[in-house]
Amino acid sequence: MATQIYNTLSRRKEAFTPLDPNRVTMYVCGPTVYNFAHIGNARPAVAFDVLYRLLQRQFPSVVYVRNVTDVDDKINNAAKAEGVPIGTITERYLAAYHADMGALGVLPPVIEPKVTQHIAAIIAMIERLIGNGHAYAADGHVLFNVPSFKDYGALSHRDRDEMIAGARVDVAPYKQDPADFVLWKPSADDMPGWDSPWGRGRPGWHIECSAMIDTNLGSGPIDIHGGGHDLIFPHHENEIAQSTCANKGTLGGQPFARYWLHNGFVNVDAEKMSKSLGNVLLVRDLIGIAPGEAIRLALLSAHYRQPLDWTEAGMREAKAQLDRLYRTLDGLNDVAAADVAAPVAFVEALSDDLNTPKALAELHAIANAANKSVEPAERARLKGELVAAGWLLGLLQQEPAAWLQGGDADEAAAIEAAIAARKAARAAKNWAESDRIRDEWAARGILLEDKGGETTWRRA
Ligand SMILES: [Zn+2]
Repeated sequence: MATQIYNTLSRRKEAFTPLDPNRVTMYVCGPTVYNFAHIGNARPAVAFDVLYRLLQRQFPSVVYVRNVTDVDDKINNAAKAEGVPIGTITERYLAAYHADMGALGVLPPVIEPKVTQHIAAIIAMIERLIGNGHAYAADGHVLFNVPSFKDYGALSHRDRDEMIAGARVDVAPYKQDPADFVLWKPSADDMPGWDSPWGRGRPGWHIECSAMIDTNLGSGPIDIHGGGHDLIFPHHENEIAQSTCANKGTLGGQPFARYWLHNGFVNVDAEKMSKSLGNVLLVRDLIGIAPGEAIRLALLSAHYRQPLDWTEAGMREAKAQLDRLYRTLDGLNDVAAADVAAPVAFVEALSDDLNTPKALAELHAIANAANKSVEPAERARLKGELVAAGWLLGLLQQEPAAWLQGGDADEAAAIEAAIAARKAARAAKNWAESDRIRDEWAARGILLEDKGGETTWRRA
């Protein structure tokens, strides 16, 4: 059964059939690196990571490109405020983004292009658009002429008045039409800039994705384009206009991207996340409260297109779910995982437009079956299924003992020392001391468990 995905372009679920089954192409708009990632930034990274994992199981090659916006006015402002070059800001926050997404189990994309490495491609694309009458230079700027592209608005399903209002355009005197948008803008001397046929300047935001797709995936149609719901208009609408008009010869009348996927917002305690409300949750802070894997599961607990209401209770519930699943795996320690694929019901759930809530329910069903089973071959199969299904969600890939013990190396060493002291006390038949050590750690939430002459530990 082909995977069904909801295509924003057609507004319905469609069977996913790549143009070339030997090379699936996927592009997702990545971070603008001027600050630490918040939980809303993590959602597309995690959602499209699940899609990337699923496609990797279905096709021999998936070229996943996720860009980095490393020149932008927010970056310029941050650099100015600190009195450093923009590269200092972007390197710092890209490294932090990689660390945060790594903690959430997000696989690196195949290609991670940066805007500053694509300025020549951006300028070349703008020149093509001017050459074929879709863009014009005016007053140091280059603008895309929206009325020249009759399909403008097809993705966002907006009419012209809505689009002009929605774009919040300042009616600059050099614009031929109020809906026209900037491809290139002039840079003052204290701003980052590059030499161009229109003077020293820098690209507008939208053109970067069109140029990076061209350079890294080719100028023919790509299979999948993804991003947050807030990017549909104007960003993705503008990408379509640019790429369609610049690549008429190579697209052959086909859409520039064939399937458009968009994830929903993250709210915090039923409120929109915003600086003014002071409720912006940074991934790096959440990782201090719960393991990255629990944050990932919490993000996957709602369907990716639906809004997700982030609560601390939800995050703790995700942690408790993982404790249960890892306890099941820990209980299967005596059998080796069979080399099996994820079960059909699980894959069918994911293949239905990435229905992760249903897939998680199937994961628990496998665990429940494993908890009841006493037959070694069946337990080995169920263990293999848990690991294979878990991989598709980016979960359950740690050693169960490591998960159940948590990640604090100093504390783990102290517990191991206590277990050794307790062993010595028992060897000396000093039962009171042995119990005292056990109770002391139990009071701190660490359970010492005796089994077959060995003592192991886990968190309560
Ligand atoms: Zn983009």
